[in-house]
Amino acid sequence: MRLAGPNQLLESVFARDLCIGCGACVDLCPYFKTYSGRTAQVFPCTRETGRCFAFCPKVEVDYQELSQAFFNEPYRGAPLGHYLRVVKVEAGPNLPKGNYQNSGAVTALAVTALETGMISAAVVTDRKGLMPVPKVVNKKEDIIACAASKYTAAPTLAAANRAAADGAKDLGLIGTPCQITAAAMSRLNPTEKEGFSDPYNVLIGLFCTWAVDARKLAALIAGHTKGKDICKMDMPPPPSAMLVLSLDDCNINVGLDLVRPIVPKGCSVCPDMTSEYADISVGVLEGLPLANTVIVRTPRGQELLDQALERGYLVAGKVAAENLAHLSLAANNKKKRALAAVQALGDNIDPEADGRAVFRIRAEALERIMAGV
Ligand SMILES: Cc1cc2nc3c(=O)[nH]c(=O)nc-3n(C[C@H](O)[C@H](O)[C@H](O)COP(=O)(O)OP(=O)(O)OC[C@H]3O[C@@H](n4cnc5c(N)ncnc54)[C@H](O)[C@@H]3O)c2cc1C
Ligand code: SF4
Ligand code: SF4
Repeated sequence: MRLAGPNQLLESVFARDLCIGCGACVDLCPYFKTYSGRTAQVFPCTRETGRCFAFCPKVEVDYQELSQAFFNEPYRGAPLGHYLRVVKVEAGPNLPKGNYQNSGAVTALAVTALETGMISAAVVTDRKGLMPVPKVVNKKEDIIACAASKYTAAPTLAAANRAAADGAKDLGLIGTPCQITAAAMSRLNPTEKEGFSDPYNVLIGLFCTWAVDARKLAALIAGHTKGKDICKMDMPPPPSAMLVLSLDDCNINVGLDLVRPIVPKGCSVCPDMTSEYADISVGVLEGLPLANTVIVRTPRGQELLDQALERGYLVAGKVAAENLAHLSLAANNKKKRALAAVQALGDNIDPEADGRAVFRIRAEALERIMAGV
């Protein structure tokens, strides 16, 4: 991993407008803070290397290094990353009622992790209005209360950083692929910080194609909510082409032509659709809004799923071959779009090349991505 400091983070990420506001650089020191969906450096710092740069998922992400460290194999550019199996899940008879996005699989896995003692607390993302609010919670009811997708980029890792600084151990992180990548990089202790201890025990990843800037979304719909609370956000599959915000008695449908301009530029250079460095990843199962696709990546992820099934929180089934093929195609297309976007920025992603790049991928993996699934 190539190291540098806050000034290089400002040059490579902020000046290129690539910050996604994930919170990975926030509250590691007094200098980077998040406010109302945005991250900013509040005081200058002259350190030559820092965790802020090393954890950022928008500069110098070395996929080979991550793949070797977590899966003991080279990064091959496979559309869904390394995995053990892919299964369909639905809510089981014992899953408590909740405002779940789909089957409630993410919540079921997080609650199971807490109940089995696999984690001491979960890092989740709540919201106030449209603003995402990261929280570290250690009660089942609080995990359930933070269910449902907030389709806004969120500083979730700022809460994890604060908990880690307070000595938290065995955290379970629920995050989007950029957040999971940043957490994975932090687990390698790239700056060789003395006394380091990995704060995470389980990473539960979400699938993600894009998120929107919360402030810009709020400005876009200002005047349409008539003071009412937003109960749920949804992104129905094609051909709907809209982001749907549900109020008590009506929906606000935001067309994709209005959504695209408020997707942060950082999403355009994101090659990961399925949280490839999580223990277990969860996304939509096309055509079945009350089911989920689950990608089990590690033995820990498998153990967690087994426990959730045993407790009757989830029931498992088979993902149809055509769903899997479609998911793989979508994930590969996301990689291709990210490659085109980093090329347009002028990055040379060859691991041996000079200069800064959003990420590094070796030639064999690049060829596979370009060749398709
Ligand atoms: C920004 C975003 C984009 C997504 N894009 C896709 C996609 O393209 N394709 C797809 O298949 N699935 C996508 N998903 C995932 C999908 O929306 C559901 O989260 C997933 O299917 C799990 O459903 P569930 O019922 O198990 O979740 P629930 O049990 O309802 O739990 C949802 C969990 O997500 C966490 N969360 C919510 N919002 C955020 C956020 N902004 N950042 C971090 N964590 C958050 C909450 O803490 C909660 O624990 C996206 C999710 C997000 C947040
Ligand atoms: S992307 Fe995340 S880690 Fe990088 S600068 Fe923005 S908030 Fe910090
Ligand atoms: S597209 Fe990538 S960068 Fe954007 S929110 Fe999703 S995971 Fe993060």
